[in-house]
Amino acid sequence: MPGTISVQCCIAGGGPAGMMLGLLLARAGVSVLVLEKHADFLRDFRGDTLHPSTLEIMHELGLLERFLRLPHQKVPRINARFGELEFTVADFSHLPTRCRYVAFMPQWDFLNFLVEAGSQHPTFQVRMSAEVTNLIEDGGSVVGLCAEMPSGPLEVRTPLVVGADGRHSIVRTCAGLSVEEFGAPMDVLWFRLSRKAEDPADPMGRFDVGRIFIMLNRGDYWQCGFVIAKGSLGDIRAQGLPLFRESVAKLAPFAADRVHELQDWEPVKLLTVQVDRLRQWYRSGLLCIGDAAHAMSPVGGVGINLAIQDAVATANLLWQPLRDGRVTEADLAKVQARRAWPTQITQRVQLIIQNRVISRVLGRKTPLAPPYALRLLARLPFLRRIPARMIGLGVRREHPRTPLCTQAYLSPEHRSGTPAL
Ligand SMILES: Cc1cc2nc3c(=O)[nH]c(=O)nc-3n(C[C@H](O)[C@H](O)[C@H](O)COP(=O)(O)OP(=O)(O)OC[C@H]3O[C@@H](n4cnc5c(N)ncnc54)[C@H](O)[C@@H]3O)c2cc1C
Repeated sequence: MPGTISVQCCIAGGGPAGMMLGLLLARAGVSVLVLEKHADFLRDFRGDTLHPSTLEIMHELGLLERFLRLPHQKVPRINARFGELEFTVADFSHLPTRCRYVAFMPQWDFLNFLVEAGSQHPTFQVRMSAEVTNLIEDGGSVVGLCAEMPSGPLEVRTPLVVGADGRHSIVRTCAGLSVEEFGAPMDVLWFRLSRKAEDPADPMGRFDVGRIFIMLNRGDYWQCGFVIAKGSLGDIRAQGLPLFRESVAKLAPFAADRVHELQDWEPVKLLTVQVDRLRQWYRSGLLCIGDAAHAMSPVGGVGINLAIQDAVATANLLWQPLRDGRVTEADLAKVQARRAWPTQITQRVQLIIQNRVISRVLGRKTPLAPPYALRLLARLPFLRRIPARMIGLGVRREHPRTPLCTQAYLSPEHRSGTPAL
């Protein structure tokens, strides 16, 4: 017999969207359970960028100072090289925010921090190694979900299931929500190369004939992204590792003395890129947010930040109905109405860059002149503030409006601590 638990909100997926939503709802006194299928947060590289908008939210929650004590790198600008033209793409130093930089921090540190912050609140629960497998429905409404835990099956009964389980979301599949696919011309090969003290410090994007290469400074190593045409990994592997190493050395000559660190293909991980969006993000008793509602392209590295903004908007709009036990479809529609527009705009810009710049560069056999917009960026420094705003703050910023719940508001079972599963 499965164990059964009842909570006011159950979140499938402990990524940035799920963990931030869990924290905000628990702060507001909503009993919330986050189920994460992995045993820990260590996983393939999925972006370690925390943008000024996210750092501002951490400040607004009173967590920034403690958060920035964790090891991170501050990146005040992003540089690129297109053929022979070197320029700054985005300069964050003029943003009207507390932190005028992107913080690079391993995503597992960020997620562990959110769990720790959530655990200060008695209504917050997280279960790791808990894989959501199905939804429970009654009369056309979602009324809970099923999960597999190491201890056996678990049934969760709840007025609201939130699908924050990423771009391969089981929740959105089980809910039958229809997805609009936009396609992507590329995938990314991620790997590490060691970093030396005399290397450049800023992250670097290099656009060359048929190649795009990204290097992110992670302290003692470079996180490298080698962008390839979608589905071309087989060809690249068939050409052999020596040729791949040679391509990397050409794109980053200062690291040519380290490409031998790639001894075989094992450390080179393929991350497939997909861009899509749900037509409707909700059903009675269920809402999807973050990548589960809209898988983002890595262009601009904004996916984590959008997921966080979704979580903040969801908490702002739903904490009261959840606490009162009356979440309606109209409440859920308000979340989509608030977040669909920023998502559409961001994805549209990503698709323009994918189709007009990335596809063209990857398809080239001869040198390509930088697009006019990039030449303008190189010539007119003040224009760098536009991509900085787009990347660093995004469209329609969210600010937490959830209250910090006092013990008096909590139900008797939560006043003394978290109920055990
Ligand atoms: C190659 C690549 C590079 C990227 N680089 C960046 C970057 O630099 N910066 C950036 O901001 N964004 C980047 N992104 C996008 C970013 O990773 C996502 O937009 C962001 O992680 C979305 O957060 P999320 O919480 O919605 O989903 P996710 O981060 O995908 O989290 C979903 C969570 O749900 C869990 N889960 C899945 N299924 C289940 C289940 N059945 N039961 C329980 N748990 C489940 C997963 O284990 C995971 O922890 C990149 C994406 C790709 C593909």
